[in-house]
Amino acid sequence: MNILITGGAGFIGSHLTEYLLNQGHFVIVLDNFFTGSRENLAHLKDNKNLRVIEHDIITPLPNPLPLPMGEGNLDQIYNLACPASTSQYQKNPIATIQANVLGTLNMLELAKARGAKILQASTSEVYGDPQEHPQKESYLGNVNPVGPRACYDEGKRCAETLCFDYFRQSGVEIRVIRIFNTYGPRMAEDDGRVVSNFIVQALRGDDLTIYGDGSGTRSFQYVDDLISGMTKMMAADNFQGPVNLGNPDEIKIRELADKVLALTGSKSGIKYMAKPIDDPVRRRPDISLAKEKLAWQPAVALDNGLKKTIEYFRARLKR
Ligand code: NAD
Ligand code: UDP
Repeated sequence: MNILITGGAGFIGSHLTEYLLNQGHFVIVLDNFFTGSRENLAHLKDNKNLRVIEHDIITPLPNPLPLPMGEGNLDQIYNLACPASTSQYQKNPIATIQANVLGTLNMLELAKARGAKILQASTSEVYGDPQEHPQKESYLGNVNPVGPRACYDEGKRCAETLCFDYFRQSGVEIRVIRIFNTYGPRMAEDDGRVVSNFIVQALRGDDLTIYGDGSGTRSFQYVDDLISGMTKMMAADNFQGPVNLGNPDEIKIRELADKVLALTGSKSGIKYMAKPIDDPVRRRPDISLAKEKLAWQPAVALDNGLKKTIEYFRARLKR
């Protein structure tokens, strides 16, 4: 198949690109390299089935399309382009909401014009600071529309709305996944998310930074599990979602810090810092729908995924 991945040079996108190339597909990556990098795809650069195009999805694709198959068949679009970490998406909040709203609109138009199936990478952030626990897809969320996270949370909510309107109004084949906290190799070292921060801090001998008192929770999914869920969702028949993809194994942030210290053998201390505004207190996916519709559930335990991620950062920091 001919498959387009927006944000394909990012953390998740680079794993998806590798997986789809290994399946024998032709893959086009569109990325503006805001948080992604060519280095994430460097090991694939000799693959004749990969094209990487620098493009900001906020702007419509030029006509004629710069896609290598020209006006030929485009089968699938995975729309991942958007900075995902709080510190990155708050650097330029207007660009973040543009990526989510204008970018998704542009990709839905492309899907409509080419008859392609489109999978939207939505997020557990659509639930905001949840009042219902664990979170089911039917929960409508608790999001502050005017806070500093809104460019991302409300942007992703609007992107879901756009997907469902293109489905109802124009018959576009949509798939919407709500991704819960995902980690693994190729997260950017300065990305700002908790797993990469803790591992890099531990390996450098710096204090681990806990925001608040560390009693808040998250549920961490290893990237390979996500790729398997995402591709199953793309292949699903007559199911648009939204569907939660995450690991229901919930852990306190303080416990995560202890685990990273133990697994790295680091002597780093812990530094407590102010809790960010609107930081959700707890988060855990209910994945019964994914189990039922996709026969999917995560297989990688946190300790095993963390060990692989630590190995990656150890090698990277040495370089
Ligand atoms: P990432 O920041 O590593 O990847 C995002 C990629 O999109 C980068 O390569 C970046 O350069 C690119 N990009 C950003 N804005 C763009 C634009 N306007 N045009 C073209 N490219 C653009 O983040 P990630 O963790 O790989 O996340 C990928 C997707 O999954 C995002 O949409 C994110 O919202 C979603 N998601 C991720 C998580 C997670 O825990 N990792 C959780 C929920 C949702
Ligand atoms: N966090 C932390 N220290 C860090 C980075 C994050 O304590 O160095 C906390 C953050 O406040 C949040 C949780 O860890 O409660 C997860 O943060 P992350 O940015 O990884 O993901 P998200 O908030 O998007 O779920």
